[in-house]
Amino acid sequence: MGSVVALLEMRISVVIPVHEDRLEVRELASRLELQEGDELIVVDASCCDPVQRDDLPGGAKLMHSTGINRAHQQNLGAEKAHGEILLFLHADMTLPVGSLVRLRESMMDEGVAGGGFLRYFNSRSKFLRWTCRLAALRSGLLGWFLGDQALFVRREAFERVGGFRLLVAFEDFDLCRRLKRLGRLRALTPPVISSARRFAAGEVRRSLQDFLLVLRYCLQGKKPFRWIRTEEMKKEWEPAGSDAGMENADGEVEAREVATSVNTFDRVLDQEGVSLQRIFPEVLQINVGKLCNLTCIHCHVDAGPKRREIMTRETVEGILKWLDGPGAEVGTVDLTGGAPEMIPDFRYLVTEVKNRGRHVVDRCNLTILLENGYEDLAEFLQGHEVEIVASMPCYEPDNVEQQRGEGVFDASIKALQLLNHLGYGREDSLPLHLVYNPNGAFLPGDQSELEAAYKEQLRKVFGIEFHRLYTITNLPIARFAAWLRHNNGFEDYMGVLRDAFNPSAVEGLMCRNTISVGWRGEVYDCDFNQQLGMQLSNGKPLFLRDLDLTEFAELKILTAEHCFGCTAGAGSSCGGALV
Ligand code: SF4
Ligand code: SF4
Repeated sequence: MGSVVALLEMRISVVIPVHEDRLEVRELASRLELQEGDELIVVDASCCDPVQRDDLPGGAKLMHSTGINRAHQQNLGAEKAHGEILLFLHADMTLPVGSLVRLRESMMDEGVAGGGFLRYFNSRSKFLRWTCRLAALRSGLLGWFLGDQALFVRREAFERVGGFRLLVAFEDFDLCRRLKRLGRLRALTPPVISSARRFAAGEVRRSLQDFLLVLRYCLQGKKPFRWIRTEEMKKEWEPAGSDAGMENADGEVEAREVATSVNTFDRVLDQEGVSLQRIFPEVLQINVGKLCNLTCIHCHVDAGPKRREIMTRETVEGILKWLDGPGAEVGTVDLTGGAPEMIPDFRYLVTEVKNRGRHVVDRCNLTILLENGYEDLAEFLQGHEVEIVASMPCYEPDNVEQQRGEGVFDASIKALQLLNHLGYGREDSLPLHLVYNPNGAFLPGDQSELEAAYKEQLRKVFGIEFHRLYTITNLPIARFAAWLRHNNGFEDYMGVLRDAFNPSAVEGLMCRNTISVGWRGEVYDCDFNQQLGMQLSNGKPLFLRDLDLTEFAELKILTAEHCFGCTAGAGSSCGGALV
């Protein structure tokens, strides 16, 4: 009887770090079998689609993190937890029925400091099943668990070892290794189901990369996965003036002081005596959402096949209404995403914008033109004389596939041939431009030289013609920033961008003549600021439906450290090099 009481008295605090996983966390939270005394703490670092109070069950705590780092977010949640047991979950996992009961039972043994669950992926892949068996062996033998195995720990033990260390990777292994000094770590069943979305670009390649990273971790310890000082992380990429706090599901907010960005970009502009001023907007760039058929490593949107943030018909109608209004004289509507063609209202939007006499640009990843259900897309674009700006990071397969996934090069070539067949790249009324971005942490080469090389190779080998090549610098945000951090290259890359600052590029920056609109109709200076959540404000967050161009002209362009990506070397914009 006593043990049953002890079992029931054991409170579990579930901590879920979130970054742009609003729908997933809502699903997970709704299925948690919490009992009285248990609690749910969500620590959200999302910029674009933050978790809302209504997404969580009553009584849940919602915290907004100032840094996108799982270790940091989990420590924040743990600080506010009251339970004797901490359970750390990933937003995109599923916890089978009965898991919390198993967890409580295992913790009845006082020699157990923590542990994790065995894990399967939500994939039919035999290869992934096999990797899960290996992971089970690793967990059983070494007591090492990854974060997607629902790590749990006694709060007392967690506090004694000082919580998660602020590493950019393997903070989970690191915690397990330190916990083992305090007690046993148990591997529990039933297995949790973890999302296989990170294997979308190739399960073998990704597993091999993971394996090599684990090997590196085993050989070199935490050294290569450098520490991030808390203060440094708080400052990184925090848009100036943003605020954060902790609120519970009833809306009570506890304010916290948040570091704001050290904006050395503005300081450098001052030193160089150049100013960044708006001119009359010529381009309305609409990011219709994060849904994409690919998951490229350089993606600044964090787009992918499972993203569900897309523009609705209501928002589309709002944009069309704005285009009909006074003063909205922008001549070009530039559609981007994700893969913009994947939203249900893409063709409606294109048709209606064309009916209003505007030029339309489609930022196309090419492969979408060959996907099932999109067979007539190329003809649609041709019929509406939509300009196509297509990603093509190289004219050789290896570089393209390293960035964009297996099979993407061949599909891109086929799509380009199809577009050429329809007249794209050959006729002036059907412009076809390609986009090059470096396959790593370096600046693009000379645009005109690269264009000549592309033209020669694509014509000679594949008979492909196109109009212009745009070289675009990878900006250190979103997935590319995560990749840089993963490889300890973030600071070095920032150094490259800062050292290459070119004041002559400022005049052509796209934020000067563009209105950038997000999938919910919010207004930004550019698509990069959009991904960082740097929404413009006129006292309250600005949406296109409320945008007055006279007032817009007076608003300061919001800048931060990532802006060095636009001014490095020959400069960079959606239309390529600037000088
Ligand atoms: S870079 Fe483009 S094609 Fe690749 S995932 Fe991002 S939006 Fe999709
Ligand atoms: S990132 Fe945006 S705001 Fe910053 S310089 Fe580039 S275009 Fe302008």
